[in-house]
Amino acid sequence: MKKIIDAHCDVLWKLYEDPTRSFTNSPDLHLTYNQLVSEGAKMQAFALFVDPIVPTHLQYEAVLEMLQLYEKEVLGKHAGMKPILSKKDLQQLSANQIGAMLTVEGCDWIDENLDRLTFLIRKGVKAVGLTWNHVNKLADGAMEPRGAGLTSLGFKVIEHLNKHLILTDVSHLSERAFWDVLTVAEYPIASHSNVATLCPHPRNLKDDQIKAMIDVDGWMGITFVPFFLTKNEKATIQDVLRHVEYVCSLGGENNLGFGSDFDGIKETVVGLSSYKDYSNLINELQKHYSERLVRGFLGENFLKRLPS
Ligand SMILES: [Zn+2]
Repeated sequence: MKKIIDAHCDVLWKLYEDPTRSFTNSPDLHLTYNQLVSEGAKMQAFALFVDPIVPTHLQYEAVLEMLQLYEKEVLGKHAGMKPILSKKDLQQLSANQIGAMLTVEGCDWIDENLDRLTFLIRKGVKAVGLTWNHVNKLADGAMEPRGAGLTSLGFKVIEHLNKHLILTDVSHLSERAFWDVLTVAEYPIASHSNVATLCPHPRNLKDDQIKAMIDVDGWMGITFVPFFLTKNEKATIQDVLRHVEYVCSLGGENNLGFGSDFDGIKETVVGLSSYKDYSNLINELQKHYSERLVRGFLGENFLKRLPS
């Protein structure tokens, strides 16, 4: 059994965008229930991400609708999907169950008294990224030319996440905000980011950032976004392996895993066109790494980082 844990996908946004899509088997989704079953998924993270085409004042409504879709379409229609509300839930999954974990990608909808965030944590959110690519009330995202750090509300939100034993996701933050987060976050991860030295892009992490994540015993998910993997026209599975190997060379072999970004990307890696291709990646990993390391990359390293 493969037991894949994948820390990031945007399929909830795809279901929100077009509710006629079926999470069970829509051919235009990268990630479906049937594919999770056939590939041997252990747990999939489902991001609550609202595209900036939705005006800020309507974003929380969209989040609530996506939450409903998650409960109805992902959990409600598949008895085999089990919501992960605690680390114990994940550890106690039976062989034929697949865990589903809610995450947040961007808090543009946040209410300053944090009640909305508390509500979503109660609903099962286990990891929170403060921003998407742009600025909001908490911080600057990676694509803001100004590159500012956290606001006082941003710091307050992280204290809130610490208190509730929730992972803080640094993917998408500006470099300065990343360093601000590391001064306060007790449970930092980068759910879907690659190595900037191998592929310079503001969304990727520089060596000192990766080393800092390893030093605080955080976790980093290599992502299958072609233009975060290579500057070549086509990205291949070998590119994914290059990023894995680089993080290992910095000492991160136990802090590493995957956050595919399936259904959040238009272009895909050659040989990794959807979740059903995870086997191709696993076959390549097995050629280069011990069984223990591959098990760590595929899921056990993430499991260890989950605070509760
Ligand atoms: Zn993203």
